[in-house]
Amino acid sequence: MKISFPYMGTSHIVVSYLFEKLGFEVIYPPTPSKRTLSLGVQYAPEFACLPFKIVLGTYLEVVEKGAEILITSGGCGPCRAGYYGELHKRILHDLGYPVEMIVIEPPLVEPLDFLRKLHKIVKPKGIFNLLHYGRIALEKLKALDVVESTLHELRPLALDKQQINQAYIEGLELIRQADSVKEVIEAKKAALEMLESVPADHTFKPLRIGLIGEIYVVLEPAANHDIERLLGERGAYVHRSIFLANWTRDNVLAHGEKDIRAMAIPYLNQMVGGHGQNSVGEVVRYAEEGFDGVIQLAPFTCIPEIVAKSIMPAVSRDKNIPVMTLFLDEQTGQAGIETRIEAFLDLLWQKRKKQEAS
Ligand code: SF4
Repeated sequence: MKISFPYMGTSHIVVSYLFEKLGFEVIYPPTPSKRTLSLGVQYAPEFACLPFKIVLGTYLEVVEKGAEILITSGGCGPCRAGYYGELHKRILHDLGYPVEMIVIEPPLVEPLDFLRKLHKIVKPKGIFNLLHYGRIALEKLKALDVVESTLHELRPLALDKQQINQAYIEGLELIRQADSVKEVIEAKKAALEMLESVPADHTFKPLRIGLIGEIYVVLEPAANHDIERLLGERGAYVHRSIFLANWTRDNVLAHGEKDIRAMAIPYLNQMVGGHGQNSVGEVVRYAEEGFDGVIQLAPFTCIPEIVAKSIMPAVSRDKNIPVMTLFLDEQTGQAGIETRIEAFLDLLWQKRKKQEAS
């Protein structure tokens, strides 16, 4: 059977590896492009948020290539993400693509549903095959996160930004090719060495910026105009609030990031869906850790992030940390994002200078 899935950050490296080993023919989702978004925009309801449109565009691209099964994650709590699998399926069926949609719900929320769907996915090659390759996939997930966070630390210091960006791409390829836990560990080591070998100015003290918001637009460069690269190339260290391995641990194997939610409670004491409550808690955490500023990424019409944004002025004032919100949709232009980022960085440098002078 031909299977495919949404493209989000570097997760495709792990997901495609796992499904190949489980005995499926994987239709690789392409990196989201202008065509992906325009397909999604064409067939999505107008009110849908940006992740819905990009994922729909991806589905249309992979069904054109013959995908028969689409696998995606579900959602719980007060966010329409929980309906998106069904809505995507209906749109694809109406367009004449009779795909099967498997929506994996969080196992601790819907254990029986999770086991039923797991059985279906695992059936071709058996549970021991899943345990063996699942372990390697998990190691890949962890390796990708370590390499990516090292890139975030070193990019603002690197003398040649193109060189470090290229070293990162080559490092990802090594992790993609690895086929055992030992090979993944070796690939990670080699990828880190490649990043560390790029000449850098280790005396430079970059601005420290926390990146928060809705998971898809935080993790997918095509949705956020490659904001981590834009910031890193302009001398800012980006700490991303969501990494795949941590997210999987906290949301698949547990009931969410309780410590971050606890930090949000003085400002927002209930779940509002998506990452809304986390976004508030993360600003508190970044302020307490001495970060210079926070950027919130919010898909246009995303209610959880709109709720969080309405609370940001109070958190920002109480904790003395600047917060900038970028709303993203298909109308958002690269030049507009770059201008706002540069203005925000100017503000943060001036704030730091004042603090150093006082
Ligand atoms: S969290 Fe926001 S962007 Fe994500 S599915 Fe829900 S409404 Fe859409």
